[in-house]
Order: sequence, then structure tokens, then C-alpha cells
Amino acid sequence: MSDNKIDIRSYSFSEVKALVEQMGEKPFRAKQLYEWMHQKQAETFSRMTNLPKSFLAALEENCVLVTLKKETVQVSSEDGTRKYLFALPDGNVIESVLMRYRHGNSVCISSQVGCRMGCKFCASTIDGLVRGLTASEMLEQVYRIGGDIGERISHVVVMGSGEPLDNFDALLKFIALLTDENGLNISQRNVTVSTCGIVPRMRELADRKLAITLALSLHASTQEKRLTLMPVANKYGLAEVLSACRYYFAKTGRRVTFEYSLVAGVNDCAAEAKELADLVRGMNCHINLIPVNPIKENDFRQPGRKAILAFKNKLESSGIHVTIRREMGRDIDGACGQLRRRYERRCEQ
Ligand code: SAH
Repeated sequence: MSDNKIDIRSYSFSEVKALVEQMGEKPFRAKQLYEWMHQKQAETFSRMTNLPKSFLAALEENCVLVTLKKETVQVSSEDGTRKYLFALPDGNVIESVLMRYRHGNSVCISSQVGCRMGCKFCASTIDGLVRGLTASEMLEQVYRIGGDIGERISHVVVMGSGEPLDNFDALLKFIALLTDENGLNISQRNVTVSTCGIVPRMRELADRKLAITLALSLHASTQEKRLTLMPVANKYGLAEVLSACRYYFAKTGRRVTFEYSLVAGVNDCAAEAKELADLVRGMNCHINLIPVNPIKENDFRQPGRKAILAFKNKLESSGIHVTIRREMGRDIDGACGQLRRRYERRCEQ
């Protein structure tokens, strides 16, 4: 693949229009091309049968149509969750997950190959960051999974490997394309972006006034404890991060979600539940408790069922809206980055 070709699946509709005009084609060809890329989700230019041959040849010459290749899919026998491993055009692999809910099909996508945030419980970050994904590579995860199951995808969560706000421009392009009425037309309200707390980018995102949900990975009720789990807390302290969450709500009117991975003996005691309640009191928020998904590189363990429920009850009695994340796909390497790591090691042997 030539590096200087245009990654046209990452182009907005108006960019496609400008390019088509520049290539000397009639304006209506832009809509046809865009629909092939984002509604019919064509894998090659040659599939675009209603475009003139000469136009297709020019597209082949100047552009690349980024398409992911399904390497493997694992299907959970417990809940129908499907975990995909996709190959990118440069040979890197990433993982994405399909979760089936009553309210629709939700795809969890990766935003980077690897990650440089260093959170202690996370498998994605162990080998560091390789690179950020392009908008087309993020979109393609949704397109290929929708195509694979032959059903509409209604929800997208950017909670797979990588830190989305560390790949900010591509993320914004991705959201614009995903929610474009000429494309898949997913409602902004059905898109969630999860961050470890990169404060300036959280504020920038708020200023965009999108109707997407922001999820903050909190995982601790004090700055000291958070520092032991998440190196990013060195750069952006807890007070600053919470202030950015308040700003997000003020600008967008969207309730913020806090993710809190429960680790036995680390952040799961009653006093911590109370501290957490005090910390978020008065905020329009929702707490999602995630019993930590053990990975073999560390010895973090989930609290027992009783401790998890006690933690939840304590928060609820303070009037906080709490859910325990339904653990999906536990039998198929559910935790971020586990599948990719296993795959890469297999390839190295
Ligand atoms: N970088 C983003 C999104 C990726 S991870 C972020 O930090 O939010 C999505 C969520 O899963 C985050 O809350 C992350 O902290 C959490 N997570 C990662 N590994 C986990 C594990 N092994 N068990 C439980 N939660 C985990």
C-alpha cells in the first residue's frame, strides 16, 4: 500500500464532494461514492458497480479504501458476546467486541494499537503504544461486525484498547462519520467515549457540544489511591478531572458515567464506598462498577459477590445511581487487550 494515497474512508462527506469535483466528476458521484463506503460498506472500489470505470480507475490510483480483515471471532456460549480480532492494513491486529442487549447491538471498539497510559490492571497497555487508529479503522470495526452478523448496530462504545482522547482528531472524525445521516446514522446519544482522564481534551470535547456520553475511568476515591492504579493521575489530579466532568455536563447536559473497577483489597471497602459517594455528591452522574477482570500479568482479584453488592448498596443509600457491569464474554478473554496479546505471542513462537 502506498503511503501517500488518500485514506478516503476517513473523509467527511464535504471532503469527498470536494475531491470528486477536483477529479472532474459530476457532483452526484460524491453521494454515490459516500454511500458505497459508509452505507453499503464496500470492501473494494471494484464493488462500486454504478460508478464509471474511468472514475474507479482514478480512485484506485489516488486513494485507498481501508478495510479490516477478520482474523478470528470467538463467540461466548454464555451470552452470545462476540470478540473479534481484526487485521489492519499494516498488519497490526486489534480487538473489538459485539454485545447483544435488549436495547440493541452494541460494538466496543479499539481506538489505538496498544496504549501508553499504563493503568495497572489493564492488558492493553503492557507493551505500550504502537499507534493511533485512523477514523476509517475505527469505523471499519463497526462496519465489519454489522456485516458479519447481518444486523444493525445501534450503539458504539469507545472502550476497547487505547485511550481515545490520546487520538483526539481521529476520534472526532470517527464520531462525525459514524453519526452522519448519509452513513450509518447512529445517534450521538448512543455513542460513549471512555477516558482515563486527559483533562484538556475532556474540556475540548465538552466545547464541541456533542450529545455523546463521556465515561471517566475513576477507579479510586482519593488522589493517592488513584495514583497507585493510574499513572495519568500524576499529570491530572482527581480534583481537576472531576472539575472537567462538571464542565462536560454544564456544556452538554449529558450525565457523566464513572467507571470504577472493583479490586479485592485495593478499592472495595465500605469506607471507600462512602468516600466515593462524598466525592461525586451533587453531580449528575452514574457509577458503573466493573468487577476487575483478572489478567495473568498481575494478581488483581475480584471482590466476592457479597462485597460487590455491599459496595453498590452503600452508594445507592447515598442516592447515587449505580449499576454493576454485566460481565459479558468472560469465557472469551473479555478484558481489554487480552486477546491481542495472546494472538501476538502465538505469532512470535
Ligand atoms: N482508555 C480508556 C478506555 C479503555 S478501557 C479509559 O481508560 O477509560 C475501558 C474501561 O475498562 C476503563 O474503565 C478501564 O479502566 C477498564 N479496564 C481495563 N482493564 C480492565 C480489567 N482488567 N478489569 C476491569 N476493568 C478494566
